[in-house]
Amino acid sequence: MRKKIIISSICLAVALLVAIVVIYSNQQMTVSITVDRTEMTVGTQSGLGIHAQAHGRFVERTVELTPKVDGEVDFNKVGTYTVTITANYKKFKKTETVTYTVKDDIAPWITLLTVDDYYTLPGHQYVEEGFFAMDNYDGDLTDKVVRTEAEDKVTYTVSDAAGNSYKVERIIIYSDPVPPVITLIGEKEITQERRDPYVDQGATAMDNFDGDLTDHIVVEDDVDTTKIGDYSVKYSVFDDFGNHGTETRLVHIIERTRPLGEEAEAEGKVVYLTFDDGPSNYTKKLLNVLDKYDVKATFFVCNGSEELIREEARRGHTVAVHSYTHNYNIYRSLETFHEDFFKMEEKIFNLTGVHTMLFRFPGGSSNTVSRQYCKGIMTVIAEDMTARGYHYFDWNVLSGDANSTPITTEEVYKNVINGISRNKVSVVLQHDRVGYSVDAVEDIIKWGLAHGYKFLPLDETSYEAHQRIAN
Ligand SMILES: [Zn+2]
Repeated sequence: MRKKIIISSICLAVALLVAIVVIYSNQQMTVSITVDRTEMTVGTQSGLGIHAQAHGRFVERTVELTPKVDGEVDFNKVGTYTVTITANYKKFKKTETVTYTVKDDIAPWITLLTVDDYYTLPGHQYVEEGFFAMDNYDGDLTDKVVRTEAEDKVTYTVSDAAGNSYKVERIIIYSDPVPPVITLIGEKEITQERRDPYVDQGATAMDNFDGDLTDHIVVEDDVDTTKIGDYSVKYSVFDDFGNHGTETRLVHIIERTRPLGEEAEAEGKVVYLTFDDGPSNYTKKLLNVLDKYDVKATFFVCNGSEELIREEARRGHTVAVHSYTHNYNIYRSLETFHEDFFKMEEKIFNLTGVHTMLFRFPGGSSNTVSRQYCKGIMTVIAEDMTARGYHYFDWNVLSGDANSTPITTEEVYKNVINGISRNKVSVVLQHDRVGYSVDAVEDIIKWGLAHGYKFLPLDETSYEAHQRIAN
């Protein structure tokens, strides 16, 4: 009986063992393959990770397997790649087909170039400073950049072949930091004699943005022509942006080489040669004679050759008003006189740059012909013009060259030197439209210089040799 039990027990144990072996040998291993990513960004190698795990169904046991990979992925090239991954463990095996996608998901970028202190003038087109565009995969995309310009900014956009796009803006800086430039007309440094009128020649102003600003120039000067010294004339102009342009001219006032009328007259023996009614065909010849002896005279001019009037002033003579028309009907009224006078005054100013304060009445202040046009007009005009600061000159030496009957050059010469001889200060009346009178000038000067006379041009301090007003 006991033996039977023992046998039975052994049988049972064997059966159990067999059962365990069978159960164990039938145990299913699960081989799994896990891939962490199947989408990659082109150019980045990281990301492809493959690993497999094995699991027993009952027994918790993990076996690390080394998967076998068939097929390749080019991470530097956009595309889809199929790879077969196989993992084996004993009789267990797992195969998986994995599709990898390598794509370009990085946007291109645009680099804007900038120039130091760059600006665009208001109202002007922005001039591109430069830019370039690069893409991680497509490379240089500069040619693909689309530029759009709005009022105050430029927008740059670019897309790569994969459709990734990039956009950047540039703010346009509008500014005008450049001041206007003032250019002096004439010399930057001027030297002239005391009491000669200072005539500013002006300046021009140009601005890079506003253009011609000449009309906006403000001129300030401290020039005092009555005193010897160094002075400055300051020109200044602002552009619309408030940029300030300046320029300075230096004016040196030096002592006179020729005395003023009143200074010379105190000593006496002063001769003022004056010529009316020109310029004419004889004026050039007369100017040359005067130059030959360095004698300065006075021309009371009428409307005529602009070149000669300019030349008279250029050679240092006094150019003053006689009349624009020299028609006595200017004496109809103060207004008609003014009209004629200021027309000539303006012409002289335009040609010489000097607003002369000196004039001689047609016919002189003592003329009676004006009575035919308006009784008492000479008194009215003389008072009016004096009140305006003008000096009118008559004469105290007649040459006789305006007589209705011509005389000889010799007679003109005699008339003049006889007249001069009688006076301390002489204001000689001649006409440079009269040829035989002009011909007498050289001998008059020779005689005067030989007899100790000073020939001077009239100025505002000179003896006016007024005659009696007769109308
Ligand atoms: Zn005259």
